[in-house]
Amino acid sequence: MTEERYPESPSPPPSLLKGEGGTKGREDVALVRERVAAAKNVMVITGAGISAESGVPTFRDDNGLWKEFNPLDYATREAFRRDPVKVWKWYDERRVNMAQARPNPGHLALAAMARPGRRVFIVTQNVDDLHEQAGSKEVVHIHGSLWRTRCERDGTVLENRETPLTEVPPPCMCGEIMRPDIVWFGENLPWQPVEQIHHYFLEGRIDLCLVVGTEASFGYILQWALQAHEAGAMLVDVNPRDSGLGSIIDVHLRGKAGEVLPKLL
Ligand SMILES: [Zn+2]
Repeated sequence: MTEERYPESPSPPPSLLKGEGGTKGREDVALVRERVAAAKNVMVITGAGISAESGVPTFRDDNGLWKEFNPLDYATREAFRRDPVKVWKWYDERRVNMAQARPNPGHLALAAMARPGRRVFIVTQNVDDLHEQAGSKEVVHIHGSLWRTRCERDGTVLENRETPLTEVPPPCMCGEIMRPDIVWFGENLPWQPVEQIHHYFLEGRIDLCLVVGTEASFGYILQWALQAHEAGAMLVDVNPRDSGLGSIIDVHLRGKAGEVLPKLL
């Protein structure tokens, strides 16, 4: 899910966002490929763009879901409390569509990048499991998962892959109904994945940070990219368009994830 209103968003100091011109942002596949070959630790931050290449509809693009549906009717806690059946039917349809999606060459390249002696740590804003399907082992979902349900009363989180759901809304053992385990508008990021990312940063040098298919419009995405940079990473934006990373990137590889990432192996 990609919206703009998650609350806490530490913004980087403005000085870091100023352009320096020169060699910054130039396209250079060979340079990045060299860096990958030598890298022991690679961080990857992915967004809707990479899933869109597998036929998963995005939320905010010109043809995105939020053009057709009002997010306030489906992706807020208030909407869910008002009409859980309506919200769940909508998510059920998303899940049925998602069940057809398969990883694309971008997901597969990231999975192939991890090998003995090279860690690849993926932070994804996507609620699908295409990285896992591709074979990636370390995947942190910061906006939740379409394949999990959660009880707000007792905190139970369950994996649920039934498509379509036999019971709408799905019940919890405690008698309450389950909600999608997805971060909705106006909600905080869940603490577990945020902790995992903080721990990752404490573990030492990062050689490369690939930011793939995201507008990087959230403050925390920018913040993590900057932290990776400070930990030694070459910061690479893989995106057909310009993103919110602006001039903090070292290299902009302009193109789709499925076209660019396989060239880095
Ligand atoms: Zn419960």
